[in-house]
Amino acid sequence: MSETIFSRIIRKEIPADFLYEDEHCVAIRDLNPQAPVHILVIPRKLIPQLSKQKVEDKEILGHILSVIPLVAEQEGIGGEYRLVMNDGVKAGQTVFHLHFHILGGRLLQWPPG
Ligand code: 5GP
Repeated sequence: MSETIFSRIIRKEIPADFLYEDEHCVAIRDLNPQAPVHILVIPRKLIPQLSKQKVEDKEILGHILSVIPLVAEQEGIGGEYRLVMNDGVKAGQTVFHLHFHILGGRLLQWPPG
Protein backbone atom coordinates (compact mmCIF):
# COMPACT_ATOMS: atom_id res chain seq x y z
CA MET A 1 0.00 0.00 0.00
CA SER A 2 1.81 3.13 -1.13
CA GLU A 3 1.59 6.56 0.38
CA THR A 4 -0.05 9.46 -1.42
CA ILE A 5 0.28 13.22 -1.19
CA PHE A 6 -2.24 13.13 1.67
CA SER A 7 0.22 11.32 3.98
CA ARG A 8 2.72 14.10 3.40
CA ILE A 9 0.04 16.75 4.04
CA ILE A 10 -1.01 14.99 7.28
CA ARG A 11 2.64 14.93 8.41
CA LYS A 12 2.83 18.66 7.46
CA GLU A 13 5.69 18.03 5.07
CA ILE A 14 3.79 19.98 2.46
CA PRO A 15 1.40 22.84 3.18
CA ALA A 16 -2.38 22.72 3.32
CA ASP A 17 -5.09 24.81 4.90
CA PHE A 18 -6.03 22.77 7.98
CA LEU A 19 -9.56 23.36 9.31
CA TYR A 20 -9.77 20.56 11.87
CA GLU A 21 -7.50 17.91 13.38
CA ASP A 22 -7.85 15.16 15.95
CA GLU A 23 -6.25 11.81 16.69
CA HIS A 24 -8.09 10.01 13.88
CA CYS A 25 -8.55 12.52 11.06
CA VAL A 26 -7.83 15.92 9.56
CA ALA A 27 -9.91 18.32 7.47
CA ILE A 28 -8.26 20.53 4.85
CA ARG A 29 -9.42 22.81 2.06
CA ASP A 30 -9.36 21.17 -1.36
CA LEU A 31 -6.65 22.61 -3.62
CA ASN A 32 -9.03 22.73 -6.59
CA PRO A 33 -12.42 23.64 -5.10
CA GLN A 34 -15.57 22.59 -6.93
CA ALA A 35 -17.84 24.74 -4.76
CA PRO A 36 -17.40 27.85 -2.60
CA VAL A 37 -16.76 25.50 0.32
CA HIS A 38 -14.87 22.30 -0.57
CA ILE A 39 -13.29 20.43 2.31
CA LEU A 40 -11.56 17.06 2.43
CA VAL A 41 -11.85 14.96 5.59
CA ILE A 42 -9.06 12.40 5.66
CA PRO A 43 -8.23 9.63 8.15
CA ARG A 44 -4.67 9.79 9.45
CA LYS A 45 -4.44 6.06 8.77
CA LEU A 46 -3.79 5.17 5.14
CA ILE A 47 -6.94 3.34 4.11
CA PRO A 48 -6.70 3.41 0.29
CA GLN A 49 -10.43 3.36 -0.40
CA LEU A 50 -13.69 2.63 1.40
CA SER A 51 -14.00 -0.82 -0.15
CA LYS A 52 -10.54 -1.74 1.20
CA GLN A 53 -11.39 -0.97 4.84
CA LYS A 54 -10.46 -3.51 7.52
CA VAL A 55 -12.69 -4.55 10.42
CA GLU A 56 -10.51 -2.49 12.76
CA ASP A 57 -11.16 0.67 10.69
CA LYS A 58 -14.79 0.76 11.74
CA GLU A 59 -14.17 3.08 14.68
CA ILE A 60 -12.21 5.57 12.55
CA LEU A 61 -14.88 5.60 9.85
CA GLY A 62 -17.68 6.09 12.33
CA HIS A 63 -15.71 8.84 13.99
CA ILE A 64 -15.21 10.66 10.67
CA LEU A 65 -18.95 10.59 10.00
CA SER A 66 -19.46 12.30 13.34
CA VAL A 67 -16.77 14.93 12.63
CA ILE A 68 -18.09 15.89 9.16
CA PRO A 69 -21.19 17.81 10.37
CA LEU A 70 -19.07 19.64 12.94
CA VAL A 71 -16.61 20.80 10.30
CA ALA A 72 -19.47 21.79 7.99
CA GLU A 73 -21.02 23.82 10.81
CA GLN A 74 -17.69 25.47 11.58
CA GLU A 75 -17.32 26.48 7.92
CA GLY A 76 -20.81 27.97 7.72
CA ILE A 77 -22.62 25.27 5.72
CA GLY A 78 -24.09 23.26 8.59
CA GLY A 79 -27.00 21.09 7.43
CA GLU A 80 -26.60 22.29 3.80
CA TYR A 81 -23.86 20.35 2.07
CA ARG A 82 -23.11 17.32 -0.10
CA LEU A 83 -20.87 14.51 1.08
CA VAL A 84 -18.96 12.73 -1.71
CA MET A 85 -16.65 9.75 -1.45
CA ASN A 86 -15.24 8.46 -4.71
CA ASP A 87 -14.45 4.75 -4.36
CA GLY A 88 -12.28 3.61 -7.26
CA VAL A 89 -11.11 4.93 -10.62
CA LYS A 90 -14.50 4.63 -12.34
CA ALA A 91 -16.06 6.73 -9.59
CA GLY A 92 -13.45 9.45 -10.10
CA GLN A 93 -11.05 8.64 -7.27
CA THR A 94 -7.61 10.08 -8.03
CA VAL A 95 -5.91 10.00 -4.61
CA PHE A 96 -5.85 6.51 -3.11
CA HIS A 97 -5.99 7.57 0.51
CA LEU A 98 -9.64 7.51 1.56
CA HIS A 99 -11.21 10.94 1.90
CA PHE A 100 -14.65 12.48 2.09
CA HIS A 101 -15.44 15.65 0.15
CA ILE A 102 -17.75 18.17 1.86
CA LEU A 103 -19.18 20.49 -0.80
CA GLY A 104 -21.40 23.46 -0.17
CA GLY A 105 -21.96 27.18 -0.37
CA ARG A 106 -23.95 26.98 -3.62
CA LEU A 107 -26.95 25.12 -5.00
CA LEU A 108 -25.73 21.67 -6.04
CA GLN A 109 -27.27 19.93 -9.02
CA TRP A 110 -28.38 16.29 -9.20
CA PRO A 111 -27.46 13.86 -10.70
CA PRO A 112 -23.70 14.41 -10.49
CA GLY A 113 -21.62 13.78 -13.62
P1 5GP B 1 -10.64 12.26 -5.54
O1 5GP B 1 -10.66 12.58 -7.02
O2 5GP B 1 -9.57 11.23 -5.23
O3 5GP B 1 -11.98 11.90 -4.98
O4 5GP B 1 -10.26 13.61 -4.82
C1 5GP B 1 -8.96 14.06 -4.66
C2 5GP B 1 -9.06 15.50 -4.28
O5 5GP B 1 -7.82 15.91 -3.71
C3 5GP B 1 -9.32 16.44 -5.46
O6 5GP B 1 -10.51 17.18 -5.22
C4 5GP B 1 -8.08 17.32 -5.52
O7 5GP B 1 -8.37 18.64 -5.89
C5 5GP B 1 -7.54 17.20 -4.11
N1 5GP B 1 -6.11 17.36 -4.02
C6 5GP B 1 -5.17 16.71 -4.76
N2 5GP B 1 -3.93 17.08 -4.38
C7 5GP B 1 -4.09 17.98 -3.37
C8 5GP B 1 -3.16 18.71 -2.58
O8 5GP B 1 -1.95 18.62 -2.71
N3 5GP B 1 -3.70 19.53 -1.64
C9 5GP B 1 -5.05 19.66 -1.44
N4 5GP B 1 -5.45 20.50 -0.49
N5 5GP B 1 -5.95 18.98 -2.17
C10 5GP B 1 -5.47 18.15 -3.14
